[in-house]
Amino acid sequence: MGFEQRRARMVDRLRDRGAIERESTAEAMRAVPRHEFVPESRREDAYADRPLPIGEGQTISAPHMVAVMIERLDLAAGDRVLEIGTGCGYHAAVTAEVVGDGNLYSVEYVPELADRARETLDRLGYDVAIRTGDGHEGWPDHAPYDAAYLTCAAEEIPQSVVEQVRAGGRVLAPVGGARQKLVLLTIQDGGGTERETFGGVRFVRMRGG
Ligand code: SAH
Repeated sequence: MGFEQRRARMVDRLRDRGAIERESTAEAMRAVPRHEFVPESRREDAYADRPLPIGEGQTISAPHMVAVMIERLDLAAGDRVLEIGTGCGYHAAVTAEVVGDGNLYSVEYVPELADRARETLDRLGYDVAIRTGDGHEGWPDHAPYDAAYLTCAAEEIPQSVVEQVRAGGRVLAPVGGARQKLVLLTIQDGGGTERETFGGVRFVRMRGG
């Protein structure tokens, strides 16, 4: 079976399980060739619903987690989004499919991963801006964002990231130590936040700080 057909089946399974509820998410995940983002030796596993190693001790998130995060953030075409933790760039590509070209700004701590993600995204024609650096600072130059998310886990969501999201906007992140919860903040007028907590997740640790 070819990659495209495997990808369509993966999306069908994620829909059946309820991980994908929106047509826009299904379309985005059908469009992004996940096998182009994983190491050559792992291509055959690219359309199984699980995380895979991407080098430098990091992992590409499982497809259902990418779908769930996009839907919890309520992303729509035209949203300006900040991502912390580009990794291999897969989640970035799916987000870019939903929000459109030029709307995603992503920060990656490990230079080798940032360079590789930039190359892959360029080659596949995605217009995503990537900065090599520490996501604890967010990316102030392009603020305010409509939404922000972390793909690495911190004990608390960095204050700078929260401050770079507009009132009414949302921030989603895995929060905690070895085991984490997905936390969704909605920014209130005046800068306060409303906090919702979802089920347990496992992401790699946020570095730096
Ligand atoms: N979304 C990614 C998942 C990457 S795993 C994908 O689809 O592949 C989490 C990533 O967060 C890793 O690449 C790791 O290097 C990065 N990371 C860890 N600490 C960070 C920090 N302080 N700032 C930015 N990125 C960080």
